[in-house]
Amino acid sequence: MKKHNFSAGPSILPQEVLQQASEALLNFNNDNLSLIEISHRSPPFIEVMDKAKNLVKELLQVPKGYSVLFLQGGASMEFLMVALNLMKIDGKAAYTNTGVWAKKAIAAANNLGEVAIVGDSSDKNCNYIPKGYKIPEDVNYFHCTSNNTIYGTQMKEFPTCPTLMVCDMSSDIFSRKIQVSNFDLIYAGAQKNMGPAGATLVIIKDEILGKTGRKIPAMLDYITHIGSRSMFNTPPVFPIYVSMLTLQWLKNLGGISAIEKINQEKAELLYNEIDRNQLFEGTANKDDRSNMNVCFLLTDNSKETLFNEMWNDAGISGIKGHRSVGGYRASIYNAMPKESIQVLVDIMQKLEQN
Ligand SMILES: *Cc1c(COP(=O)(O)O)cnc(C)c1O
Repeated sequence: MKKHNFSAGPSILPQEVLQQASEALLNFNNDNLSLIEISHRSPPFIEVMDKAKNLVKELLQVPKGYSVLFLQGGASMEFLMVALNLMKIDGKAAYTNTGVWAKKAIAAANNLGEVAIVGDSSDKNCNYIPKGYKIPEDVNYFHCTSNNTIYGTQMKEFPTCPTLMVCDMSSDIFSRKIQVSNFDLIYAGAQKNMGPAGATLVIIKDEILGKTGRKIPAMLDYITHIGSRSMFNTPPVFPIYVSMLTLQWLKNLGGISAIEKINQEKAELLYNEIDRNQLFEGTANKDDRSNMNVCFLLTDNSKETLFNEMWNDAGISGIKGHRSVGGYRASIYNAMPKESIQVLVDIMQKLEQN
């Protein structure tokens, strides 16, 4: 039987998507060729690319004037590309420092200009979302991380922004409603909530580009990729195909408003148990708790071996916390069924009764 997969990333995908993807690996479109051995410029693959982009536009209601791209290099490459494409020469940008990934984004931008940290939660091991900060008007852009995968915190609201608004949504894109028009650039690695590792989704407002005054190498220039419709070089065909299938699955389920409701119920199920059960405590500030990554600790360490044995025996996988937080992290992305969370909750209750 398939395990209950709570992995933080790469992470769970819908079972029917895995099934369809495995079929396409052997025989795509009944053409007796594998999806991964046909030209990316052939009509069947161009159809996949167009369909994937159109599903992104439809699900997130991306307004006119934005481009949807599938790139490579992961979210980490976007840390660099964002700064290269938006930071002016001798420019300045504002960042929030809310976790490991935010810190890496800041480090990449630091190579190209001045970075002002406007909100910082590192004083409390990033267990909260900074609020009430002011974004200076004289910066080229503002960058934030919507969901801090490692610490289990999530921005419930976004600040009003007097400059370009850039967001790393790697671990909560497609999990809840967002107003794309409030952002100028959104990016997300596929492997948390969309597909296999290897593709990165970028949604970008076209008019913000080409204003830095710097020369940008073609591969790192968003304008190149917009102009060649994500086909400047060979795109990651398999991750894009599987992303397309996952987005189609999400659409069939009722789209973002349907999954947002389900995600809320799933998160409540687990957080309620963490709060009720004296053997457990959550690590994130309650108001900022992530609906995607649920981080918690055992209050009684003498129970650790038994708890680990119990969840392991129940077929649960991937709930060990990141080393920078410790304890446990249950990642409950879109594809995670409520039944699997119930299995975990049952184990937590059994431990209490033990
Ligand atoms: C996983 C993750 C990243 C890193 O993604 P890569 O694709 O490995 O570069 C960046 N930001 C967030 C929020 C993440 O969860």
